[in-house]
Amino acid sequence: MFGKRREAKDGQQGIALQEGSAPCSFAHCAARTGLSCEYVDRRGRACTTAWCPAHRIIVDGHVYCRRHAGIIAAIPKHVAGSGHAQPLPDLENRAPSLANWVADDCDADIRSLLVHEAQALNGGEVVVDPLIITYSGMDRSRVWERVWKLVEHTGMIYRISIAVEEELDAEVIIKVNQTSVYRAIPPWIGQRLLQRPIRPEVDAQRRKEFHDKIIGYVSRGIARERELRNRFEHA
Ligand SMILES: [Zn+2]
Ligand SMILES: [Zn+2]
Repeated sequence: MFGKRREAKDGQQGIALQEGSAPCSFAHCAARTGLSCEYVDRRGRACTTAWCPAHRIIVDGHVYCRRHAGIIAAIPKHVAGSGHAQPLPDLENRAPSLANWVADDCDADIRSLLVHEAQALNGGEVVVDPLIITYSGMDRSRVWERVWKLVEHTGMIYRISIAVEEELDAEVIIKVNQTSVYRAIPPWIGQRLLQRPIRPEVDAQRRKEFHDKIIGYVSRGIARERELRNRFEHA
């Protein structure tokens, strides 16, 4: 009876509970009920991970690993689902995951900077977007971006973005409104490119310095925008 009831449910629910036979890729998960991540990149290569019902993510009725679920969710639906599909990034392209990682790391501090500005303005709402894809330059190269906004009734006051271009996937670009305030290769990626091992505490220290640098540039960028706006308003 249970099986019958499960069949009756919609596809989304079915695939969420469906038991596969692959070992789950989640660290220390012993389940052997994994279904493969369905991500296939633009060269036709599939993700090799598999996930048990507890550790898989479902997007539009398909199973994905956490990393690829974020990519699929960011690609505009009408394009991702249609015949003229937008090419999905190469499996090893780090642009989406790097943008996400740095954004998660800076999220709390950026929110609190914007909340602080909202208080100074006596209002406004902080809006945080999930991973999005944007296009830059004449060749419309793809950029993976996470965005925080401070929106007031008069419109958008600040837009903070952490972005990584697909073609230049080692470099993080930080923008405040239209201005690029910082771009750099994170220290841990530089280190990996050198292929030299590093002590964990040194790695942690460098990550912290990188984080502090980003927040410092964002903070100064906001101050500059605030000054420009005040000058404009009082002119
Ligand atoms: Zn699992
Ligand atoms: Zn995957």
